[in-house]
Amino acid sequence: MYINGEWLKTNKKLDIKNPATGDVVDHVFLVGKAETEYAIQAAEAAFPLWSGLTAEQRSGYLQKVVNKLEEKKEYLAQVITKEMGKSIHNARYEVDNTVSFFKWYAEEARRVYGDTIPASSPNRRISAIRQPVGVVGAITPWNFPLSMGARKLGPALAVGCTIIFKPSSEAPLSSVELFKIFDEAGLPKGVVNLVIGSSGEIAGPLMESKVVRKISFTGSTEVGKILIRQSADTVKKVSMELGGHAPFIVFEDADIDLAVEGTIISKFSSTGQQCVCANRIYVHDTIYDEFAKRLHEKVAALKVGNGLDESNEIGAMANENGIEKVHDQVIDAVNKGARILYGGSRLSDGNLGKGYFYSPTLLVDVKENMKICFEETFGPIAPLIRFNSEEEVLKMANNIEYGLASYFYTNDLSRMYRLSEKLEYGMVGVNDPAPFAVQGPFGGVKESGLGREGGRYGLDDYLETKLISVAIRL
Ligand code: NAP
Repeated sequence: MYINGEWLKTNKKLDIKNPATGDVVDHVFLVGKAETEYAIQAAEAAFPLWSGLTAEQRSGYLQKVVNKLEEKKEYLAQVITKEMGKSIHNARYEVDNTVSFFKWYAEEARRVYGDTIPASSPNRRISAIRQPVGVVGAITPWNFPLSMGARKLGPALAVGCTIIFKPSSEAPLSSVELFKIFDEAGLPKGVVNLVIGSSGEIAGPLMESKVVRKISFTGSTEVGKILIRQSADTVKKVSMELGGHAPFIVFEDADIDLAVEGTIISKFSSTGQQCVCANRIYVHDTIYDEFAKRLHEKVAALKVGNGLDESNEIGAMANENGIEKVHDQVIDAVNKGARILYGGSRLSDGNLGKGYFYSPTLLVDVKENMKICFEETFGPIAPLIRFNSEEEVLKMANNIEYGLASYFYTNDLSRMYRLSEKLEYGMVGVNDPAPFAVQGPFGGVKESGLGREGGRYGLDDYLETKLISVAIRL
């Protein structure tokens, strides 16, 4: 743990294992309630100094973080792959993303503008200024162990907030590396504090504290709801980046090869363990069989294995629970009439047997009553569902409590706009399997979240707007 500018140890140690091999990669020290309270005090004490710096000074610190991240890019990618299993290619992409978030917010720190507002009486001058919310508690998941933190720490630091950061104890090592970089970049003590440990011990003090004015959470909808409820007692601001169940729709006029390629990217990146993964792949009846045939060829060609091996495209899943959950969804689908075109089982040949590997899987004849169509799938399973009309598929796509990412493939310009506006999702990719960019707003509607991360939108959640009205003598 890193609190008040110091690396501290406790007597509780946790070994972090590589999900591809079962080998211990490293260990971390687990904090409890007392250390979390200390971190809150440190962040509170650091707030006047950090928020009192000029935007340019804060930007300078963030630029130093960017430079140090650039120097360690390959090393960080290796740490991510070892701690949570994704392929080194996907881990490099995550590190690039992390760098671009800090870079963007190093620049955006200078652009926290307010407004002057025309008054209704001649002797009034009205303005609105924007100020940092104060001390922030940030909690992130294991699936993007580095970049999910960057999307919170970058904007929060840029506007002048101080932070207590809790990464997932499943994959905390890349966060430890990030905090080493904060330390080397000379961030004043108490501005950033790292606490790793049981969520109960850490979340309790964070949620009860009157000092912590904001909680920024990325993780499951289930935990997000608990935190929203707990935030009521102290009326904290909340940002919630929660679960998803993305529809991926392929219309009859789509470029089939492009859509197949997009499915591979959207479904299998990070071993299918992404909140924005294509979860329900709807294919028009007239091209269904051809699409399934071409996708089958691509899925069968995916190479699975230890993510550190450059030749592997699909790495290990993070843990046993993940394997059990996807296998349960596959069995449920088959029991209700789906067919497995490829995969459908755990991989245990040779070295794969030591890790959490599940075969990339292609299911056809999938129907809406199967668990895979309404429970978030966090694994490499591609379920194909048949549809006949735009109206029918829109209804199916929106018929779920999630509303994070959605995708569709078509060459019909009117449909591109019509459907983009009607999909009840925070993000829409049209012929685009990865519509996410540092400069764009990332986030969900319905039970997928509150608030946006990324771009200029990402600053808003860490700012309060204050009215100043001055009555003057004329
Ligand atoms: P999770 O179980 O909700 O955990 C997320 C974080 O919350 C972890 O740090 C976890 O700590 C902590 N946590 C667990 N229970 C808690 C509690 N009762 N109070 C406070 N904190 C608690 O989610 P996950 O399994 O790590 O991640 C997968 C989920 O994240 C999926 O649903 C995925 O869709 C979602 N996700 C969303 C986005 C997005 O941007 N919308 C991005 C990535 C992932 P420990 O791990 O230490 O227990």
